[in-house]
Amino acid sequence: MSEDLINQDSFKSTDEIWFSNNNDDSQDIKDLEDNYQSTFDEQIFEEVVLNRPRVSLIGRPNVGKSTLINRIIGRREAVVQDIPGVTKDRVYYDAQWDGKEFILIDTGGWTQDSSEMMSQISTQVQKAIDESDLILFVLDFKVGITQEDQDVIKLIRKTKTPVLLVANKVDGAEAENQIGELWSLGLGEPIPVSALHGRGSGELLEKIKENLPNESKFKDSKKGPVKVAIIGKPNVGKSSLLNKLSKTNRSIVSEISGTTVDPVDEIINLNGQDWHFIDTAGIRKRFKESSGFEYYATLRTSATLERSEIILLIIESDQVIADQDRRLISQVIDSGKALVLVFNKWDLIDEDRHLELEREISSDLRNVAWAPRVNLSAKTGWHVDKINKALKISYQGWTTRISTGKLNQFVKEFVAANPHPLRGGKQSKILFATQISDKPPTFALFTTGALDLTYQRHLERKLREQFGFEGSPIHIKVKIRQRKR
Ligand code: GDP
Repeated sequence: MSEDLINQDSFKSTDEIWFSNNNDDSQDIKDLEDNYQSTFDEQIFEEVVLNRPRVSLIGRPNVGKSTLINRIIGRREAVVQDIPGVTKDRVYYDAQWDGKEFILIDTGGWTQDSSEMMSQISTQVQKAIDESDLILFVLDFKVGITQEDQDVIKLIRKTKTPVLLVANKVDGAEAENQIGELWSLGLGEPIPVSALHGRGSGELLEKIKENLPNESKFKDSKKGPVKVAIIGKPNVGKSSLLNKLSKTNRSIVSEISGTTVDPVDEIINLNGQDWHFIDTAGIRKRFKESSGFEYYATLRTSATLERSEIILLIIESDQVIADQDRRLISQVIDSGKALVLVFNKWDLIDEDRHLELEREISSDLRNVAWAPRVNLSAKTGWHVDKINKALKISYQGWTTRISTGKLNQFVKEFVAANPHPLRGGKQSKILFATQISDKPPTFALFTTGALDLTYQRHLERKLREQFGFEGSPIHIKVKIRQRKR
């Protein structure tokens, strides 16, 4: 997943970069600088696009979503990356109809035949619900309603976000006469289209226009409090911590997401700072289906990670760090979100256990050594007030941006002090570096050859020493120069 996210950024990892065959690198570097300077000019874009209402397309693979997108947008290009408040693994198109401008979101869908299909469906649908003003649910009328369609329908029927039911591949008048049966799905009037031939697309666009608000409900989402998820294996004290936080601080239960299967989030004010704790209903309800509890817990965790910006991962300090903790940590790393580690039940441990725990942390948690740690007791309330500061630190690290100038100064010094080892008689060199995005900080390194992993790790350590990034993972993409022959 994280690979996809990065590829979606301002250029594709499959792009080849061609250079002239001269040995002076300065022109190459100049070209790269010119190319990537615009990375930092996103603000203007955000202001222009942010207020437009958002329409998401969901549906099974092969129902014709891409063809439909082409119908709706005409020859317009996929614009956009990195709209604040939404996730990055989708494509955003700038669309309009009859003077009404909107953003069309291609959700990417899910892969078929995968053991994780249900989890993917639920995550995709949840994201569409969370980030759009209108959902287009597309089905293939030739194939009919499949089990997957049924699963999606179950999830979207409950949402307050309006849904349009689009029956694609209705290629002739005869088929059109049959679409009445789709009323029974409970999603309102079915809209017949043939994306391939264009039939019905005008009517669909009219319906989209009718059902869209003038401004996106996400207009101010950028200014909303940062989203925090509390996760951890069962009985680590998630609900105890949430209770402590909400009882001792000002807390507003809200239906911000408004629409989800479990609609309750909470805004909790910690030391004057608002934080948006997500899926708190799920924590309080103690989602323990008698059968398949683990399965549902996993589903829920992945949807929760997707929605959050910072993860509070809770670990029991009186218990040996378990496989399940390690699994959650890898999930967190994959998600690319900011992290705070909470060691709960500190009231239960003595000095011996404390020393043991430190040893476990330095071996089991070494790949998240960058995360701030808070030792506390949700039961007594001891040090619960430290959470606000840790969240702030992580968010700051996750949103840090380094200018191209500063970064290249750093790279120059790094390379001078740490030449890459010779491989096959050749030495790789980093020519140029740029930060492609934040959330999490992601860097592209343009090099003359491959970089050893240990070298990359060393570079990451030095980057952290110099610029911080506390609480955040760092992603590095190496782009090897190809010389023209
Ligand atoms: P959840 O499943 O992660 O939501 O865990 P709960 O909040 O329900 O807590 C599980 C058990 O651990 C309950 O019996 C809590 O009273 C207990 N517990 C939670 N936090 C602490 C703590 O800091 N110290 C101690 N001694 N017990 C705790």
